[in-house]
Amino acid sequence: MTRKLVKVKKTVIFTDYQCNNNCFFCVDKNKRRIKGKSSGEIKHEIVKAKKRGTVYLEFIGGEVTIRKDSIDIFSFASSIGFNTIALVTNGRMLSYEDYAKKLLSAGINHIILSIHGHTKELHDYLTQSKGSFDQLIRGMRNLREMEFDNIGSNTTIVKQNYRVLPKIGEFLLENNIRNSEFIFVDPNYGAAKENFHDLVPRISDIAPYVYKCLDLGREKSIPHWHIRYVPLCYFEDYLEQVSELDEVRKFKTEHIAPDFENYEVEESRAIAGRVKPDKCLTCVYYNLCEGIWKEYINKYGDSELKPCHEKK
Ligand code: SF4
Repeated sequence: MTRKLVKVKKTVIFTDYQCNNNCFFCVDKNKRRIKGKSSGEIKHEIVKAKKRGTVYLEFIGGEVTIRKDSIDIFSFASSIGFNTIALVTNGRMLSYEDYAKKLLSAGINHIILSIHGHTKELHDYLTQSKGSFDQLIRGMRNLREMEFDNIGSNTTIVKQNYRVLPKIGEFLLENNIRNSEFIFVDPNYGAAKENFHDLVPRISDIAPYVYKCLDLGREKSIPHWHIRYVPLCYFEDYLEQVSELDEVRKFKTEHIAPDFENYEVEESRAIAGRVKPDKCLTCVYYNLCEGIWKEYINKYGDSELKPCHEKK
């Protein structure tokens, strides 16, 4: 008898779009002026999410930690009660020991750091924020000293860092990060759309570097060491490390933001953001695969995609 997997109900609250970094590839670059949600509005959303059955609550910005009410919001979420209260952050505010302490006391129990380079030069270049790497490192150290180790990471893959992905992977492992996503940049919106040719690499170019990076996690049997937003034809040997496949199986996700609400994230991403051109029709992964970003096909065409005819 096969047992049906019960999906984890996850709500991601985008508090606002203000940020103390200025990443080259920021998908929200053109949203900075949109008014963020007020404390009251965020708390209202938290209560509503609880009523809808959410067990995994995630906060993301912009950069949530630069809000004056961030600790109060985290404490409120904690008082309502969720299995996971996660925060996606660039980690800079965590360099302030007092803030890091308050954040953990407020009940954040999973922290996902945005780490785009393994060196100060590369990370600061991509964030366009001098000192952001040093603060991130100090922030990580503070968390460790407070014996907090549920730390994950997001790395956006762009032209400037794809060749050093294995080095970034090594850097994450050295820093004891065991829950990592390597995310192919989204060129449908924001800065990567505007500066497409400066930022967006070819999937065929990144693939060999991504394999090496994914192998690092595989060799150490790390459960979550994943690539995100890629066509499966380049990752047939790594299907168990493709984030979307995992996510669709395990999560039912909703996004609540100042300017939109999406209660069908997994389903709508595949329809609105990704495309499978006609040549995909004969591919054995057609139903499983989300294809590739629409803007990628607009700019580069579909010549790199290679329909597979036998499942591995
Ligand atoms: S469906 Fe298209 S994009 Fe996906 S694996 Fe097949 S050929 Fe590649």
